Amino acid sequence: MSEPRYIGLFNNGTLFHRFHKMKSRLSDCEICPRRCGVNRLKDERGDCNSGALPVISAACDHHGEEPAISGTRGSGTIFFSNCNLKCVYCQNYQISQNKNCQHVNEVDSRSLALKMLYLQDELGCHNINLVSPTHFVPHILEALLDAIPMGLRLPLVYNTNAYDSIETLRELDGIVDIYLPDIKYSSDKYAMKYSRARNYVDSSRQAIREMHRQVGNLVMDGDGIAKRGLIVRHLILPNDIAGSSDSLSWLVNNVSTEVTLSIMAQYSPYHLAPRVPLLSRKISGFEYQTVLNLLERLGIENGWVQELDSSEIYIPDFKRDGHPFSMQVK
Ligand code: SF4
Repeated sequence: MSEPRYIGLFNNGTLFHRFHKMKSRLSDCEICPRRCGVNRLKDERGDCNSGALPVISAACDHHGEEPAISGTRGSGTIFFSNCNLKCVYCQNYQISQNKNCQHVNEVDSRSLALKMLYLQDELGCHNINLVSPTHFVPHILEALLDAIPMGLRLPLVYNTNAYDSIETLRELDGIVDIYLPDIKYSSDKYAMKYSRARNYVDSSRQAIREMHRQVGNLVMDGDGIAKRGLIVRHLILPNDIAGSSDSLSWLVNNVSTEVTLSIMAQYSPYHLAPRVPLLSRKISGFEYQTVLNLLERLGIENGWVQELDSSEIYIPDFKRDGHPFSMQVK
């Protein structure tokens, strides 16, 4: 197995330098496009409701990600709590927007490093899959400084809503091997209304271009396991709230005609969505087929498409003891 590129950045001191640079940005937090300006080193909270320490909800092997991510041994998934988006339909709302339990799973970076090693050494996973990592990038870099000398060698997956700042992503160049961003909306009006995010479209598109600049198109090994590259997720929303045609056309025309896409059809009205008229139902067969036709029209051939109505398999429950997924898709 070839060494991940972060080993070189650790050995030449770059990782150490980047951690300190990112840590200093927490004092007037501008880690993500919200640029709240709070002092998180003093545990002040901005829109992501996160302070000085990272918060983790679960660390487990995950067999329900894309085949290239889960493989046969599972993806070593670390679910970070809190989020810099406020999606009214969030399927992970138990951990992303639950202010009451925000301190329950606060850990230090040493504990975060040990969780990475547990996923690698005890569970034998293919990668470390950082879910909703944006607001904890400095803490992840600090954990890597601990985990690498203890033997961490797995590729890192940055599994994000794409509301990431370019400045933060640049500090991950050469550290992250696989970027797994969403492309959620093509309308700032909907992004504001349903995720309380200003300027999501431009921010996410700039972020995805930067991710692609760093890692390029997806490269897999002989067993079909992702080694490096970009996989973009697109969750089909009812009533075309996700703007599928515009989002996917933009990807093909501005990122790559060879882009790898993961089309998700698991939408179910969770959290506040049952009370939101346009989001209070699952997607229809017609809406699903429309996106399939779009893939064909755009000539998109790389990636995966979920079966319609696969929500029972893919929705986690973080109140369940041990593992958030009831059914492990293998
Ligand atoms: S990471 Fe959190 S505190 Fe910092 S700018 Fe983003 S939402 Fe605000």
